[in-house]
Amino acid sequence: MSDCLFCKIAAGEIPSATIYEDEEFRVFLDLGPATKGHALIVPKTHAANLYELPDEVVAKAFILAKKMITAMTKVLGCDGYNIVQNNGEAAGQTVHHFHIHLIPRYEGDNAGILWTPGTLSDEDKEDILAKVQGVF
Ligand code: AMP
Ligand code: ZN
Repeated sequence: MSDCLFCKIAAGEIPSATIYEDEEFRVFLDLGPATKGHALIVPKTHAANLYELPDEVVAKAFILAKKMITAMTKVLGCDGYNIVQNNGEAAGQTVHHFHIHLIPRYEGDNAGILWTPGTLSDEDKEDILAKVQGVF
């Protein structure tokens, strides 16, 4: 994708604060970090989102996420990690090239990566369970 920001960053055509790179992925610091050390895993091949990402790349991306947070927890001295992955504008995706957010968490950081819990209604539960019959 010639006009895709993350294709250009992944290819090194636009500079980034890269903390890891291999043949298939670049991992760089997010310019608008939720916390200190917030980074993005970006595949070097274009796919808009998880729906479109080939299975073999999905597998490698999440194995890389484990490797990165394991190493970066020691580097940063953080207390935990959120893995966030947005698909579609309704889900908060703003850059339409698949990426995984790696967000270090520090006790008391108030990063606000939360939602307000609702209540699972009997109506929703029965609706969803009926709809998934035979899907998987
Ligand atoms: P999302 O909302 O899931 O699509 O996340 C896109 C992320 O990309 C946001 O957290 C932005 O701060 C980040 N971002 C956008 N442009 C750049 C850039 N040039 N370098 C690093 N991070 C960026
Ligand atoms: Zn792209």
